[in-house]
Amino acid sequence: MRTRFLFPFAFAVSLAGCMSTTGGSSSDYDTGAPRATAVRVSTSNEPAKALFGPVAHASAQRPESFGGYARGCLAGAVQLPETGPTWQAMRLSRNRNWGHPALISFIQRLSAKAAAQTGWAGLYVGDMSQPRGGPMRSGHASHQLGLDADIWMLPPARLDLTAAERENLSSISMQRANGAYVNGDWTRAHHQVIKAAASDPAVARIFVFAGAKVQMCKDETGDRAWLRKVRPWYGHHYHFHVRLACPAGESACENQAPPPAGDGCKEAEDWVARILNPPPPDPNAKPTPPRAPLTLADLPAQCASVLRSE
Ligand SMILES: [Zn+2]
Repeated sequence: MRTRFLFPFAFAVSLAGCMSTTGGSSSDYDTGAPRATAVRVSTSNEPAKALFGPVAHASAQRPESFGGYARGCLAGAVQLPETGPTWQAMRLSRNRNWGHPALISFIQRLSAKAAAQTGWAGLYVGDMSQPRGGPMRSGHASHQLGLDADIWMLPPARLDLTAAERENLSSISMQRANGAYVNGDWTRAHHQVIKAAASDPAVARIFVFAGAKVQMCKDETGDRAWLRKVRPWYGHHYHFHVRLACPAGESACENQAPPPAGDGCKEAEDWVARILNPPPPDPNAKPTPPRAPLTLADLPAQCASVLRSE
């Protein structure tokens, strides 16, 4: 299925032409040049995040996600407008408000539903993907396909924040007792917004701290099918994380296995129990060695052309 074992050789051959046309100056990337036409690529084991991180614009290609959520890239990304009728993108300096067109549409849909909640002008949108997806220099293992988005838990009071305010404003935590429970800032509106996200057919999973999942399990009196997609995870109390399924017809995009059948509420309760009563450390556990950062050769072969594209 993957061609990546053949890839380093093919890539080395194509590299020569690429470097001779660009001049191969790595300093292009440190000047903040507005248009990243000269994309630096390397056959070395240089971390892929150093190649994807500095690229300022999407590739001039048809939109398509290649690989897995934590090992892939994105062609033809679309930038989420910094401000829309029912959203604002936050931390603009990171340049991570890019995604597959399916993700942009999803944020438009979900934010319109959020704006119907009392006290919510819409959504504050955190990290999505880099202009060409791929590994990031900080902060996330996933978010590589343009199909993941972090949505702030802070109910947006206004949607006219300046760029400086978007750098400095903080979201708020919803947790207490290490994530075993929600705190007093959790509202029914949070339940409704996450329910709306999970009920969207494009969504595969939502990650949120365990206490929030258990609270939603308790509070839901109607249809419970949407709870299946809400998965307890570490962190995720300042924001929840939405993951779309691979768009239809994109055969090089690798879906995760679907969540186990059922609403997952027992599993979340077990997670909470482990927070409240942590099991003793396993005396035989071996420390996991740090993983080497992904290189371009670790990614699907298409990611080299995504990087090289104008
Ligand atoms: Zn995330």
